[in-house]
Amino acid sequence: MGRTKSILFDKDPADDAIREAWADEAWKEIREKFTFTLPKKKFVLKSKSREWQAHWKYSLGRAIRELGVESRCVNGRELFRSQEDANAVAARRIELCDKLAQEMIEATARYRDAPERRFVLVPIAPDPEPTEEDIRKHCGHDRAIGKTERWMAEIAWKSALKAKDPNLFLVAFQGHIQTFPDGISSYEEYLQSPLWNRIRRKCLTQAEHSCAGCGRRATLVHHRDYRPRVLQGEELSPLVPLCETCHEKIHKTSEGIPRHWQGCEEELERLVNR
Ligand SMILES: [Zn+2]
Ligand SMILES: [Zn+2]
Repeated sequence: MGRTKSILFDKDPADDAIREAWADEAWKEIREKFTFTLPKKKFVLKSKSREWQAHWKYSLGRAIRELGVESRCVNGRELFRSQEDANAVAARRIELCDKLAQEMIEATARYRDAPERRFVLVPIAPDPEPTEEDIRKHCGHDRAIGKTERWMAEIAWKSALKAKDPNLFLVAFQGHIQTFPDGISSYEEYLQSPLWNRIRRKCLTQAEHSCAGCGRRATLVHHRDYRPRVLQGEELSPLVPLCETCHEKIHKTSEGIPRHWQGCEEELERLVNR
């Protein structure tokens, strides 16, 4: 015979005579035969992992069934025929908790590392490249163009293009020649603005706060590009919800060296698509 259902003596609301008589009879038997209790816990449950605690309550019944030990539960207290039975159940219960907690941790990790990622990296169009003719126009003469002249001409060409369409370049000119939304004069100021707070929250909510890199809780939003329409919140696709660990990985190598934009993009792609 296995474990009986809990019997609530004293507190039993039933008042019919038959039930009372049965309870008296059962109590008499228990009082005589089941006099041993579980040994006192040598550990503090609070110091155990959340997964471990989750199994603590239910692993008692499992241990009793597994060992085929007879017991009675009286007012929430498990009683046994011998102390050996009680000790065996207590030991098995701890083993079960260890095993089940480990399984739970592994299952959570499997779920977390599942390949079905919700986040999709939208390819970012590369910056436009100047033609020979574009460079020539900004050089100002017909002679052969030197390295420095070419570089200056390219900056002039970019400035002219950017003046026509501030959304053309992704990362070039980020920082000192950056166009910020109205009334904002620096990136630091932008990150403190209610505008960015709204965009950030929208991005995190859309992703259900799931990190695009690892699926854990995303707490921040990474910019893949800083074009004005992205800063204005008109385009959210270059914004990536991330946890702090993944963000750190994207911006710095394992040696702590900051990556340039292309490096960040490559690492982000690796994390999202792994
Ligand atoms: Zn970032
Ligand atoms: Zn992450």
